Amino acid sequence: MLIKDPKSTDVCYVKGIGEKRAKMLNKLGIYTVYDLVTHYPRGYIDFNDTVTVEDAPQDTYCVVKAKVIGKLAPYHGKIAVYRALVSDGTGDMLVVFFNTIYSFQRLKVGEEYCFYGKAGGNFIRREMNSPIIIEAEKSGTLLPRYNLTHGLTHNMMSVYIRNALSGNVFAERLSEDIMAENRLLGFNDALRMIHFPRTVGEYELAKRRLTFEELFILQLGLRSMKNRKKRLTGASMKRKSLAPYFESLPFELTGAQKRAIGECVKDMTGSAPMNRLLQGDVGSGKTAVAAALCYFAYLNGMQSTLMAPTEILAAQHHKTLSEFLEPLGVKVVLLTGSATAAQKKKIRGEIALGEADIAVGTQALIQKDTVFSNLGLVIADEQHRFGVGQRAALSDKGKDPHTLIMSATPIPRTLGMIIYGDLDISTLDEMPKGRLPVRTYGVDSSYHERLYRFVLKYAQNGFQSYIVCPLVEEGVSEKTGAVQYLEHLQKTCLKDVPTGLLHGKMKQSDKDEVMRRFKSGEYKVLVSTTVIEVGVDVPNAVVMIIENAEQFGLSQLHQLRGRVGRGSEQSHCILVTDSKSDFTKARIDTMIKTSDGFEIANEDLKLRGPGDFFGSKQHGLPPLKIADICTDLAILDETRIAAEKVLKDDPRLASAHNAELKAMVDELFSDCFSA
Ligand code: ADP
Ligand code: MG
Repeated sequence: MLIKDPKSTDVCYVKGIGEKRAKMLNKLGIYTVYDLVTHYPRGYIDFNDTVTVEDAPQDTYCVVKAKVIGKLAPYHGKIAVYRALVSDGTGDMLVVFFNTIYSFQRLKVGEEYCFYGKAGGNFIRREMNSPIIIEAEKSGTLLPRYNLTHGLTHNMMSVYIRNALSGNVFAERLSEDIMAENRLLGFNDALRMIHFPRTVGEYELAKRRLTFEELFILQLGLRSMKNRKKRLTGASMKRKSLAPYFESLPFELTGAQKRAIGECVKDMTGSAPMNRLLQGDVGSGKTAVAAALCYFAYLNGMQSTLMAPTEILAAQHHKTLSEFLEPLGVKVVLLTGSATAAQKKKIRGEIALGEADIAVGTQALIQKDTVFSNLGLVIADEQHRFGVGQRAALSDKGKDPHTLIMSATPIPRTLGMIIYGDLDISTLDEMPKGRLPVRTYGVDSSYHERLYRFVLKYAQNGFQSYIVCPLVEEGVSEKTGAVQYLEHLQKTCLKDVPTGLLHGKMKQSDKDEVMRRFKSGEYKVLVSTTVIEVGVDVPNAVVMIIENAEQFGLSQLHQLRGRVGRGSEQSHCILVTDSKSDFTKARIDTMIKTSDGFEIANEDLKLRGPGDFFGSKQHGLPPLKIADICTDLAILDETRIAAEKVLKDDPRLASAHNAELKAMVDELFSDCFSA
């Protein structure tokens, strides 16, 4: 039978699923037959990938292929224990089952099986508790593992999905042409093979087809959304010399900064609006590039605006731009939420009359109620916090001014092209000269006293430190944790050191005040939870201590570390953790070894594995079920070509024969825009 509309067919329709199980499935977001069959395995046990008894790594999941050489008498204590002895010639292993006789009974002495589980025991006799078993001759199989919820087992999921697939046919979702051109399986074959692959080859084919579909729809969506006509900019500029700016700067720009400025100037002197991403690691000097472009607009008689995600960053940018540009006759104003109504009115007046050349502020303030007399350039800092929808709204504002988006989140280039669609990209891949790399160390909490003395010594010499403490113990809120931490410090080692506290529960104006005092040097130490601002620039801060470092992702640690090492003084970053896991060790080692944001992002990806990469949600993309935009780069490229082909004839997916695709796009993006 053909299930025409599996999306509206309740999951109860599937044989074996009653009301009770349906409720459990609902918890996993599975409501319909379609949800069920697209609940893809999160991984597989690969029974091909075997190790010998001797080589089985301690306390790590693996598959051992071995023959049953004897079954021991069951042992009936509080719980029943069933044991079998197996061997593969390199050693013996005891296989143990608790309370479950079923698997034990299946084993036949003299037969060979694959056992999947954690190998423990000692050198004399290895042991494996409650393994999953299959007959050795079926060892080609991949056994799917699902995300589950209480009351459901992998086996149940497999049975339900098998029932849903058997005897049913799901309507094909891609056209014959696209499938043929890209050598893709049909939807039904792909579903069967993704859940029940008989070989790795089958799994790969299925994964490819389903990933292709998802990325294809993603690209169609992103591209059709941006496929508005290329308009002419109302802010075409003429070449002018930036020499006065270069000469007045207190430092020499890096080659990368000069190149980026050149690329932007080229765009801004063209007839279409600039639409560019400036990406550069923390501390690479994006602000100096932004200032150059604002100056360029000024020379052309046009206004610029620089929008920051927070007030504190807006204030910082205002200060920097004023220092760089006011000596050249440029008027820079700051529009903040904390200004009085009268002040805001005055500043808005200056912007409207064109008396102000550059308006710095938070996005909200600048986008709302602010009218420019002659806006030529819009710059948004740390833009990655905004979704694709918001980005479209931004470029729709004004009379097609030039836009530059600045981001410190390192992403591979191909990925950037997807996330940022038709943006051009400039990369600052060079650090300002004379920067000393931050020295990074990993220690455990027995070092606390020493660390505080270290902080004290720097404070006495006029330098500043950050201490980041996530401290999420059970039952202790973020706020209490940080407050207690600070109290402890103030009673002990840092008695006489002015110290500020920053946590997520504070009002924005209080946060700003604390940051202001830290920036001004009044506070020598800043204790903060993870709210510490991305982009804050305090060159006098030279020590960064991160408590419970195991709780952070690598890219996050890198961002935090980027708060120090901004001046000429040697800076230090100390990662404190009591975690002994290999995973944590590997991450701390990476931090010690490298200071390159791109490398760290790649390492993060490798360590965390696909599916758990810096999430698509973080970039404002819709949630994906099977594709991984970081690791499926090859398919990403194929789908780009396929999507371009479709959009060439129908740029906005408006024609009738693309209605199905349009529906799929709308469905994929529905989550994204409601959020
Ligand atoms: P980010 O790219 O992280 O936003 P900033 O623009 O805040 O970096 O710059 C970091 C620091 O480096 C600032 O104090 C800035 O004045 C300084 N800086 C920027 N460019 C250079 C340069 N070419 N040489 C020396 N210092 C620079
Ligand atoms: Mg910055």
